[in-house]
Amino acid sequence: MIDFALAPEIEDLRRRVRLFVEAEVMPLEADRGNYDEHENIRLDVLEGLRVKARAAGLWAPQMPKARGGLGLPLTGWAVFYEEANRSIFGPLAFNCCAPDDGNMSVLNKVLKTEAQKDRWLQPIIDGTVRSSFVMTEPHPGSGSDPGGMMLTKAEKRGGKYIVHGRKWFISGAAAASHFILVARTSDDSRRGLSAFLYHKDQPGWRIVRRIPIMGPEEIGGACELEFDGLEIPAENLLMEEGDGLRLTQIRLGPARLTHCMRWLGLSKRCLEIAGAYVKERQAFGSPLAARESVQIMMGEVAAEIEKGRLLVMHAAWTLDQGGKAQKEVSMAKIHVADVLQRASDVAIQLTGAKGYSKDTILEWIYRYARCARLVDGASEVHKMVLAKAYAKEGNDFWGWG
Ligand SMILES: Cc1cc2nc3c(=O)[nH]c(=O)nc-3n(C[C@H](O)[C@H](O)[C@H](O)COP(=O)(O)OP(=O)(O)OC[C@H]3O[C@@H](n4cnc5c(N)ncnc54)[C@H](O)[C@@H]3O)c2cc1C
Repeated sequence: MIDFALAPEIEDLRRRVRLFVEAEVMPLEADRGNYDEHENIRLDVLEGLRVKARAAGLWAPQMPKARGGLGLPLTGWAVFYEEANRSIFGPLAFNCCAPDDGNMSVLNKVLKTEAQKDRWLQPIIDGTVRSSFVMTEPHPGSGSDPGGMMLTKAEKRGGKYIVHGRKWFISGAAAASHFILVARTSDDSRRGLSAFLYHKDQPGWRIVRRIPIMGPEEIGGACELEFDGLEIPAENLLMEEGDGLRLTQIRLGPARLTHCMRWLGLSKRCLEIAGAYVKERQAFGSPLAARESVQIMMGEVAAEIEKGRLLVMHAAWTLDQGGKAQKEVSMAKIHVADVLQRASDVAIQLTGAKGYSKDTILEWIYRYARCARLVDGASEVHKMVLAKAYAKEGNDFWGWG
């Protein structure tokens, strides 16, 4: 039986996140004094916000209750994250922002002992430590095709792995202490990669530069890293040797989807800002909202957002049932990345010069939105995944769960 109603406790949480975001988070966006030089929230302002979020019982929705989170299923994350990201600072306030969000989820799944979780995961949940996921490499290394093209090597010598290579676009690296690194351990085409944990204080690696980017930056930037003899003890291998690609899939499935959950919140906010403007603003004797062409733009974006919400919820539900949801996640990622770009573009168009200014957050979202079609798999790669699935499954491609 299909039931779209939210459980009462999830609905209550949704309402509380909404109220918190409106009362505590959105007001901070308007004052540029609350931003750092990389256009994200200043750390001291964030700390105050996080204290309030924890006190309100709105912390780490994706983590188990026993470790201080809310222990929600993924369908619950979808509700929470969408409300959280009606503000550009929301996910940071509740500790459900990228890349920590995906790193916490994968570490919670793959770390084998409670002692390992205490050491590597708990500080990220507590918000005392930040983390990075280190995979992408500059040319000629791996981007869309990590399995085939990864050049960074982790060579086993005795009880250690020695790492040499170069990575780039590593979100948050300049602020992170815990790193999940994916490197090549053999030439096996399917099991050639392995994943490791290392701490920022270990010698043998450095940040070459913080790469200047088009949009606002995550805290800790997008960095280029060089590895020149980093020694990783064998006990810091994640899963088994050769499981690097598997770990990446375990991380990226839900992480891609949480991007979509957050992007839907941002898309809704774009429409909210545009909606308020066209209702009030007059031209040629009537409010802009009365013009049919304006209504078409608003209505089309609203429908696209709703399609995205259904795709995301279906993928989240599939993951909650124990499915891999590879197709569902790919479809959601392709669609919602487009929706975010379209929503921010339409909202700027409808708010005219004001939308182009920094008096609203639309231009911030517009620049940020451009990375949505690239990160965590370019849209073309997700389309390739879908085409391959369709070629294999034919009409069975369209199942119901
Ligand atoms: C803001 C930002 C943050 C990021 N954060 C991280 C991070 O924290 N950690 C990390 O490891 N990486 C990170 N990345 C890297 C990101 O995951 C890669 O950019 C992405 O995987 C694509 O790889 P690439 O840039 O090397 O593109 P390439 O592989 O060089 O591809 C370039 C383009 O070619 C096209 N293309 C590729 N394959 C196909 C295909 N099969 N069919 C058709 N067209 C294709 C696509 O249009 C694609 O955009 C980040 C990137 C950005 C922009």
